Amino acid sequence: MNKAKRVVIIGAGFGGLSVAIRLAAQGWKVDVYEQQSYAGGKAGSLKLGGYRFDRGPSLITMREVFAELFESVGRRLEDYVQFEQLDTVCSYFFSDGTELASRGNPEDFAREVAAKTDDSAESVRCFLKYSRGIYKKTAELFLMHSLHDWATYFKPQVWKGLLSRGKLDARRSMDTAIRSFFQDPRMRQFFNRYATYNGSDPYQVPATLNIIPHVEYNMGAYASKTGIYALPQAMRSLAEELGVEFHFEQPVEKISVQNGRATGVVTASGEVSADIVLSNIDARRTYEVLLQDPEAPYAQRYRQLEASSSGLVFFWGMKSSYPELTVNNIFFSRDYPAEFKSLFSELRCPDDPTVYVNITSKLAPGDAPEGGENWFVLVNAPRNSGQDWASETARTRERVLARLEQALGRSVANDIAVEEVLTPAHIEEETGSYYGSLYGISSNSKTAAFLRHPARSRRYGGLYFCGGSVHPGGGMPLAVLSGKIAADIIKKKE
Ligand SMILES: Cc1cc2nc3c(=O)[nH]c(=O)nc-3n(C[C@H](O)[C@H](O)[C@H](O)COP(=O)(O)OP(=O)(O)OC[C@H]3O[C@@H](n4cnc5c(N)ncnc54)[C@H](O)[C@@H]3O)c2cc1C
Repeated sequence: MNKAKRVVIIGAGFGGLSVAIRLAAQGWKVDVYEQQSYAGGKAGSLKLGGYRFDRGPSLITMREVFAELFESVGRRLEDYVQFEQLDTVCSYFFSDGTELASRGNPEDFAREVAAKTDDSAESVRCFLKYSRGIYKKTAELFLMHSLHDWATYFKPQVWKGLLSRGKLDARRSMDTAIRSFFQDPRMRQFFNRYATYNGSDPYQVPATLNIIPHVEYNMGAYASKTGIYALPQAMRSLAEELGVEFHFEQPVEKISVQNGRATGVVTASGEVSADIVLSNIDARRTYEVLLQDPEAPYAQRYRQLEASSSGLVFFWGMKSSYPELTVNNIFFSRDYPAEFKSLFSELRCPDDPTVYVNITSKLAPGDAPEGGENWFVLVNAPRNSGQDWASETARTRERVLARLEQALGRSVANDIAVEEVLTPAHIEEETGSYYGSLYGISSNSKTAAFLRHPARSRRYGGLYFCGGSVHPGGGMPLAVLSGKIAADIIKKKE
């Protein structure tokens, strides 16, 4: 055990919290430096009048990943935070007026599709079977282990995946594959939406990403009864129980390096020495800003790679309640290809955006005053490249209200009691994520999975990485897995 060894972690996002817990349990002295006043990074919380909102993620998938983290240190997730498996995962409102509920039970969902669309229950069953097949072939290699550690390739499950490369369906796009299962344009739009779960474009992203519906339908979708923000707070509590020290409102300004090895960090309070340093912040920013090494090969590579999409969020405290809505609701656009063209080619907010409305007060009544609801209204937005966000926000707000009012048949605008907005520029400023991207680099290219930064720097000894910008990618469960991969490598190497 490395009782005396000290690690400094930069950032208290999901990745940083995950690795802090695991390293503390391995016997390391762990200090986490976080520029904000809270743990959770992109998964923050907002209070506005009598309303509370989650500021980032809203849907929990891969519950096992969180449960494993707590179990790995002898605790039970359910003793810290209550998840609720959703019967109705999401209510969908199509532009032609069709309403469809995606059910947590795949068989119920298949029947719902057969009843409401021109596709059959069997198409859904076949698609989810295909999705499960991709998961089985890819999860071990692409999600659970380092792609850059030889030991990974000696695992039998990984070999099986590599030997069935054809079944990974990487040659065609997500949309092309979906067309081969579904003929109804509504179902094509429905399943193409899963590309947005990691900020990608369904018309470009390899069909391998059709793995995501398996994760949601076959493995289950959850919400937290106390909001998503309760999850990083639970991880922080667990970390503190294990002796991790958090230093909030202390941005790291620099990573110190001696003889090619990271030896600590510098904050406004001075130098902090450490045996190893772990960055949970954007990998490119780590090289360019904290190491002042913009010519590092990974910094150069990240400058070339396409960032994932971002989000524009309206937090609306509503005076009334909407019984026709559930916790998660999607109001689809008319023209999905045009929407993704705006996001990835024109880098502007779509004229006709798909609108997501998450209402945690449906599960946690304390999140809104009696009779009201807390609406987290998200539209996909392009990465921040200096757009005029004030005018993009004003234009999008009008479109969003028009879409919601058309679908719900009542004046939504009149119900807004309090309001705040989060733009891609805010996300970039608050979390240090380049371009305000939600999930690091996009998965639009076939090679994206292999181009993400590994858990261990090859350029600097003692420097490690976790978080959404590195392998295996963005989203809460993957960021938690990145912390596991980093902790496993540190155990072997240090
Ligand atoms: C609006 C929105 C909706 C989303 N929806 C979902 C969803 O439904 N499901 C899902 O799974 N994911 C979703 N995501 C993505 C998910 O939130 C992220 O992928 C995940 O939280 C990233 O975790 P991370 O470990 O990369 O850390 P981050 O959250 O990026 O945290 C990094 C931390 O580092 C800190 N930091 C940065 N620079 C410094 C410095 N110099 N010194 C000290 N600290 C520093 C930051 O303040 C931050 O706390 C969403 C994100 C947003 C913003």
